[in-house]
Amino acid sequence: MSKKTSTKRASGKSPKSRTSNPKSLKYVYFFGNGKADGNRTMKDLLGGKGAGLAEMTNAGLPVPPGFTISTAVCNIYYKEKQKIPTAIDREIDTHLQTLEKTAGATLGSTENPLLVSVRSGAKFSMPGMMDTILNLGLNDDAVEGLKRRTQNGRFAFDSYRRFIQMFGNVVLEIPKDAFEHEFDSVKKAAGARLDTELDENALREVVQRYKKVVKERAKREFPQDPHVQLKMSRDAVFRSWMNARAIEYRRIYDIPDDIGTAVNVQMMVFGNTGDRSGTGVGFTRNPATGAKEFFGEFLINAQGEDVVSGVRTPQPIRELEKVMPKAYKQLREITTRLERHYKDVQDFEFTIQDERLFMLQTRSGKRTGYAAIFIATDLVAEKLLTPKEAVLLVDPESLNQLLAPGFDPDEWKKIPAATRGLPASPGAASGQVVFSADHAVEWVNQGKQVILVRRETVPDDIHGMFVSQGILTATGGMTSHAAVVGRQMGKPSIVGANALEIDESRREFRVDGKTVKEGDFISFDGLSGEVKIARVGTKPSEILQVLDGTLKPEKSNIYQRFEKLLSWADKIRRLGVYANADLPDQAALAYAFGARGIGLCRTEHMFFGEGRIPIVQRMILAESEADRRKALDELLPLQREDFYGVFKAMRGCPVTIRTIDPPLHEFLPKREDLMVDVARLEATGKKGKELDEKKRLLQRVEQLHEFNPMLGHRGVRLGITYPEITEMQTRAILEAACRLNKEGVKIAPEIMIPLVGLVKELSDQKVIVDRVAADVMKEQGIKIKYLVGTMIEIPRGCIVADQIARDAEFFSFGTNDLTQLTFGFSRDDSGKFLKIYQEKKILEKDPFASIDTEGVGDLVRTGVERGRKTRPDLKIGICGEHGGDAASVHFFHHAGLDYVSASPYRVPVARLAAAQAALSVKVGD
Ligand code: PEP
Ligand code: MG
Repeated sequence: MSKKTSTKRASGKSPKSRTSNPKSLKYVYFFGNGKADGNRTMKDLLGGKGAGLAEMTNAGLPVPPGFTISTAVCNIYYKEKQKIPTAIDREIDTHLQTLEKTAGATLGSTENPLLVSVRSGAKFSMPGMMDTILNLGLNDDAVEGLKRRTQNGRFAFDSYRRFIQMFGNVVLEIPKDAFEHEFDSVKKAAGARLDTELDENALREVVQRYKKVVKERAKREFPQDPHVQLKMSRDAVFRSWMNARAIEYRRIYDIPDDIGTAVNVQMMVFGNTGDRSGTGVGFTRNPATGAKEFFGEFLINAQGEDVVSGVRTPQPIRELEKVMPKAYKQLREITTRLERHYKDVQDFEFTIQDERLFMLQTRSGKRTGYAAIFIATDLVAEKLLTPKEAVLLVDPESLNQLLAPGFDPDEWKKIPAATRGLPASPGAASGQVVFSADHAVEWVNQGKQVILVRRETVPDDIHGMFVSQGILTATGGMTSHAAVVGRQMGKPSIVGANALEIDESRREFRVDGKTVKEGDFISFDGLSGEVKIARVGTKPSEILQVLDGTLKPEKSNIYQRFEKLLSWADKIRRLGVYANADLPDQAALAYAFGARGIGLCRTEHMFFGEGRIPIVQRMILAESEADRRKALDELLPLQREDFYGVFKAMRGCPVTIRTIDPPLHEFLPKREDLMVDVARLEATGKKGKELDEKKRLLQRVEQLHEFNPMLGHRGVRLGITYPEITEMQTRAILEAACRLNKEGVKIAPEIMIPLVGLVKELSDQKVIVDRVAADVMKEQGIKIKYLVGTMIEIPRGCIVADQIARDAEFFSFGTNDLTQLTFGFSRDDSGKFLKIYQEKKILEKDPFASIDTEGVGDLVRTGVERGRKTRPDLKIGICGEHGGDAASVHFFHHAGLDYVSASPYRVPVARLAAAQAALSVKVGD
C-alpha cells in the first residue's frame, strides 16, 4: 500500500506534468570546505544545530563536512504516514555524493570508508530528548577497511560495536541492557575492569555477540548496506520527535509540536582513536552563576555519548590544557571568537582526533536567571552588547528566580515529590502544616513557621495567608483567590494540587499513600509546583534583603546588576508599569520594585484588617439606611488611614482606588458553620442573645445567598443599591488626599468603578463621586485634581466603550473577569478542566495566566479603539493578572495601552517585558 503511494507520487512528480515542481523547493543544505548553503538566521528550517554548523563553516572554523535535512522534511514524514517522498530521497543521495567527494571517502568502502553521525536538531534545543546515531557506515567489510586505513584494529572494532549498539537501540528499539549484558560478559572473560582494556579480539567477539542480539530481538539481520542504515536512522530520528519525553519537554517549555526537527548527517571525527584524541562539551561562561570562566568537561579516548552517559567520569576542561595544550589553546580561541560573533554565551561540543580539533556544535547556552543577569551586564561592560541588546538577552520570567527564597539544592534533590500542583507564585516554602487561617496566626505568634493548606482560600483567610511561608490549595486555577493573593504578597503558592485529599475536620490530608497531620512539616517549590513531605531550609533572596533595607545595595552584586538592567529597560519602554497593591507596605514594596503608580487598590481587602470585620458585618446586616450609615461612619476613618498610607508610599504617582467589588456574603460567616452553631446552641438549651444573633446572621446569610455570586450582586451593582458605600469610600479618598495636600505631598487619586457594562451604571456612580468630592473639597477649602474612570471587564463594556468613555476619564481592563466572562469559564473552578484542555491541545495556554489574544484580546482592542474614538486622550491600563505576564505585556504594548499593572513581585518582569515589546516594534519597522 505504501509502496503504491510512493510510486504514484514519483510518477506524479514528473517535471513536465507540474507547473510548480516540488524539486524547486530545497530540503537538504550542505556545509563543508568553508562554505555552507545555510546560515545562523535559518534556525526554523535547519534547527539550532544545523544553523550553527552552517555558520561555523562559513566562518572558516574546523567543522567536519555534512548536510542538514530540513525540519520541513520532518513534517512531510509525519504527513505522509512516516514515509519520505522519493524526490527528497534523491536530494539526500545527491548531497551524500557531494559529502563523499568532499571527504575523499565513500560510504561502505573497504578502502577508505566514510563514517557519519546522524543527529537531531530542532529550532529550540531539547537537550537529550531526541536520538543520535554515531559511526554509521560500518559493516563487516568497511570495518576491515577502517582498520587498514587507521592501522588501528582496536579502534575500528570499538567503533563498529558502538554503532551496532546505538543502531540496535535507537532504530530497532532493542533495550540497551541486552547489549550491555553481552559487553559485560566479554569484559569479565577477558578480566578487564575498564572498557578501554578490551583489545581488538575481544571487541570482535563483542561485535559477533551484538549481531546475534539484533537477530534474536529484532528478528532481522543487522543491515549491512550503509544506505539502508542511513535511511533507517534518519527516520528513527524523525520518530524521536514524537517520543513521550520530547512531547513532555515541549509541553513544559511551550515549544510547538508542529515545528519538527532537522536531521544532521555529518562526517565522523573520532575522539576514540587513542590517547591523543578526546571529546568534550563546554560553555564560554558558567551557566549557573554567569561567572566569566571557561566551563566544561572532556574525556580522553572517548566518543560523545561517553561524556553524557556517565559511564566514565569526565575531567574538568582546564585539565585539557595540561594534556593537549595546543588543542586547548585553539579551543579557547575559537569559542571566544564564537561568543563575540554570536554576542552571547555559547554552549559547544568538540572532538579532538589525533590532536586535531573539530567543532561539532555551538548554540546559545541555557542559563539560570541569576546567570542571565550577570552575563547580560558583563557583556555590556565588555562592549560586546549595547544596553538594548542586553535587555533582549534576559527572559523576563527568569527574574522571578532572583526574587524567590531558595532551598538548598542538594537537600531538595534528595527528597521525592509527593505531588504537584499549578505553580502559582514562585519561591521555596517550608513549614508546619496548618488547616485554618486562625491557626496559622496562632502558631506564628508562637514562633512557628507554617504552610497554610486549604481546599481553597477565601478572602477571610487573608490574615492566615499573610503570616504563612506559603499557600497550598487542592483546587483553583492560576487566578483563583489563593493564586492572586499569593502572587501579590510574593508568597510561594501552589494551587490546584488535586491529589491532596484534605480532611479539614480531622486536620489532616492524604497524598501519595501518606497521611500528613497538622504540625507535620512539608516543603514546596512554587516555581516547579512540586510538593515534598519534609522540612528543607530556605532563605530570602538577596534582592529583597536590599529592598527591605536589611542589606546595603553596595554589598549585593546581584542587586546592582538587576537594577542596572532594569534601568536600561525603563529607558526603552513606552508602557508605564504600575502595581496592584492594597496596603501601604505593599505599595512601598511596589515602589521599591519600580512601580510608578497603583493600577488597582482593592479596597475590600482592607475590610479584613484587624477589628474591621465586625463593623463590615454590621454594615451588611443593617436593616435601615440609617443603621448602615452608622457602620459606614465607623469604617470611614479606618479607610481614610489606609488611603493616606497608600498615597504617601507612592510619592505623588497615580493611585487607582476601586470601590467595593465582591459579593457581600464573602464578609459573612459560612452558612453551614452558622447552621451548626445554631443547632449546637439550641441543643444545649441555651436561649438568649447569642442564639438570637446567630439566627439573625443566618437569616441574612440566607438572604444574601446567590447561585452564581460571580455573576450576582457585586461590583457597581453594590454601589448602585447601596450608594452610601460609594459615598463613604469617596469621602475617605478625598479626605486622605486633602490631608496630604496640606502636608505638601503630591497626590493623584483615580477613583475606579468596577464591573461596568452599561454607561448609565457609571453615570449613576460618577454623580455620587463628584458630589461627595465637591463637598469634601469645600469643607477642607482645597482643590484636588482627581479622575473618575471604570474597569472594563464585562464583554458588553468593550462593545459599548464609546458610550462609556463619555463619562469615564480612564479605563482599566480587568482581564481576570473579562477572561472569565468571555470564555464562560469560572475563574475559581476552571483549574479542574483547563489542565485537560491543555493536555488535549484544545487550549495551548491557561487563558487566566496569559492573555487569549484572539478572543479576549480582540475585545480589548475593540474597547481601546471605541473608547478613544469618543475621548482621544483616554488613559488606558490593565490590572488583571495578565499585567505581570511577559507575553501578555507584549500584546498590551501593541494594543496601545498606556500602562500595565502587576502584583508588586511581578513589577520587574513587566518592566523588562515592556522594554522588549518596545524593541520588537522597532525591529519590525
Ligand atoms: C479583574 O477582573 O481582572 C480584576 C483585576 O479584578 P478582580 O480580580 O478583583 O475581579
Ligand atoms: Mg474583576
